[in-house]
Amino acid sequence: MTFNLTILGSGSATPILNRHPTAQVVAIEGDYFLIDCGEGTQYRLMENHLRPGRLKYIFISHLHGDHYFGLVPLLSSLNLSGRTDDLWLFGPRGLWEIITTQFRYSDTKLNYPLHFQETDPHQPTQLLDHPNVRVETIPLQHRIDCTGFLFREKNRKRKLIAEKLPADLPVAFYRHLKDGNDVLDDLGQVLYRAEDYTIPAPPARSYAFCSDTRYHEAMFDQIRGVDLLYHEASFLDDMEALSEKYFHSTARQAALTAVQAEVGRLMIGHFSSRYKTTDEFLVQARSVFPETVLAVEGETTEV
Ligand SMILES: [Zn+2]
Ligand SMILES: [Zn+2]
Repeated sequence: MTFNLTILGSGSATPILNRHPTAQVVAIEGDYFLIDCGEGTQYRLMENHLRPGRLKYIFISHLHGDHYFGLVPLLSSLNLSGRTDDLWLFGPRGLWEIITTQFRYSDTKLNYPLHFQETDPHQPTQLLDHPNVRVETIPLQHRIDCTGFLFREKNRKRKLIAEKLPADLPVAFYRHLKDGNDVLDDLGQVLYRAEDYTIPAPPARSYAFCSDTRYHEAMFDQIRGVDLLYHEASFLDDMEALSEKYFHSTARQAALTAVQAEVGRLMIGHFSSRYKTTDEFLVQARSVFPETVLAVEGETTEV
């Protein structure tokens, strides 16, 4: 199953050329899950050849502009493009009012159903039970209400051993075997044992998105052991005091979170525009947690 992440924006609130505000796409099979929607996100989608029509779910972490100023333009463009498919939007209290106010004054009527669910900034809540994943909120510690999002793949199916499959086995039974069920004859006798023709399913994967936040121990248990953690790293060590004051994290704190929560890999982003290059973020984070990569716009990572 496809389960990957494409970074559309790795910057923070103050604009800087060549770095864009937060937005990323999780692709699971054919469905796109957009996380945050900073200014210009619809152009980033086009640049990365991600068809906006495939967007099914949008998650907004909080109402600082660098995380949602691209939302109304995107929703409007989907309308212009003739969308009729349902779209689900999850975000903080106030978001629905902002959107509907803009649409009311521009006399915009959406031709597709837009469903909104408010997020609870205080406790983890399941937002979505999709055929392939479950998504829940991660309460974060920021200047205003803010939640991250945790994607957990549902149990995967066993894998067929192609060269072992009997030629006379009807294709209809493949799914049976992949579910771990034996194929029986009319009398209930075992014809084909699932164990003989399949190997166990690979472990279910998980992805946690955490931006924006201070170093926040309360979430460690919830994200423990995830395969990939995206954590904001707005500042370097030189700005630790400022980072604390603004409810952000340093690269080192993001890495410490990765260590404490025993995650597989760490990706850092949301770099402050006061840093013109990002190399030092990687150096400082890797000194604590070697399995760290930078969020690079336009790059796609397998979860
Ligand atoms: Zn931000
Ligand atoms: Zn913020």
